[in-house]
Amino acid sequence: MMILFNGWPMSALSAFDTARFYFDQAANLMGLSDNMRELLVTPERQIKVQVALERDNGEIGTFIGYRVQHNSARGPMKGGLRFHHDVDEDEVLALASLMTWKTAVVNIPYGGAKGGISVDTKDLSIGELERVTRKFIDEIHDMIGPDKDIPAPDMGTNAQVMAWIANQYEKFHGYSPACVTGKPVELHGAEGREEATGRGVITLTEALLQRHGQPIEETTIAIQGFGNVGSHAAHCLHEKGGKVVAVTDAEGGVLNKKGLDVPALILHCEDTGSVKNFSDSESITNDELLAADVDVLIPAALGGVLTERNAGDVRAKYIIEAANNPTTPEADDIFHDNGIIVLPDILANAGGVTVSYFEWVQNRQHFKWELSRVRQELDRILQDSFEKVWRLSQDKQISLRVAAYFLGIGRVGRATVMGGI
Ligand code: GLU
Repeated sequence: MMILFNGWPMSALSAFDTARFYFDQAANLMGLSDNMRELLVTPERQIKVQVALERDNGEIGTFIGYRVQHNSARGPMKGGLRFHHDVDEDEVLALASLMTWKTAVVNIPYGGAKGGISVDTKDLSIGELERVTRKFIDEIHDMIGPDKDIPAPDMGTNAQVMAWIANQYEKFHGYSPACVTGKPVELHGAEGREEATGRGVITLTEALLQRHGQPIEETTIAIQGFGNVGSHAAHCLHEKGGKVVAVTDAEGGVLNKKGLDVPALILHCEDTGSVKNFSDSESITNDELLAADVDVLIPAALGGVLTERNAGDVRAKYIIEAANNPTTPEADDIFHDNGIIVLPDILANAGGVTVSYFEWVQNRQHFKWELSRVRQELDRILQDSFEKVWRLSQDKQISLRVAAYFLGIGRVGRATVMGGI
């Protein structure tokens, strides 16, 4: 069936329209007024700046940097910075709104934001990457800060980039480690921040499987993407005794029906930059990965990868959205019809921002937590949040996605009404 949204076929939806579609699904159920919807979807501020770079060879490079500050009703705005050639205004806007619902679903005292630079980091030397990062902060430092808007890593950025951000911000504002999270542990970063998203994905997968009486150690998984999130999720699952049978990245993919040797695959990836050509495996394409005969499929790369074109091929019983916005509404519909259960991004990948919150708390208290405490608090928050979303979905007979949005929008909406406009 062709679903229309504002007169457009779904497949023509932009990233923001997709996010808006999911928002409206829950808003309809909540009976939210049009005025309230408009207030909640409209970003508080959209920043777009020129990021000029002097290249190593003396030439000039000009990039566009974005920061969308979507909503601050529940606290300072929070969200990652993405350095990727696909970054544009629409995508950043969509991802910023997802951060608002995500921080609300896990009930941490933040709003939502997102930013990025439209740049291919593969084209930059390390020095160029540093200069681009510092220049971006020169342009936006007045509009971010520990009580305003706190950036963090996302696709194409890492702890080193966060260290440059902190350093550059502090040139204007003085010592202020809580101005950014995901920093190196040597520079006020939190233990366990790097693993947090992937680890959280598996904690939540386990919670979901438990509700269906499926032991994690008898579970097979396919993972699309082997960056920070995909590789930590694979490692965590492997430690729990589950089987990672298929993995793909931008270069290629590997499959071993008996289970891939995950620690060896991580080393192979560190050495060669890709999972491709890993020994003791056969190579597979991305389409083959999505159609793999596994229990759980984990998209952990780009958005918009599960579409009307490939959703019908998915054989997994569960999809855990480690990536942000990976599923188009049409694909979501197909999964529903085929009885496939989807754990939505705004809950599934919330482990990252949750440990960012712990980092910010530690920075502000000047008190460092042990890794064991970080993990324990993370597991508790995610399990509690899962339980709330699960119960809502059971009580109202709605999907986990609609339930997560219902919970998140409800919290943001109530804070907005109570605080006043
Ligand atoms: N970029 C991550 C996300 O999409 C983490 C954001 C953060 O830690 O603030 O959730």
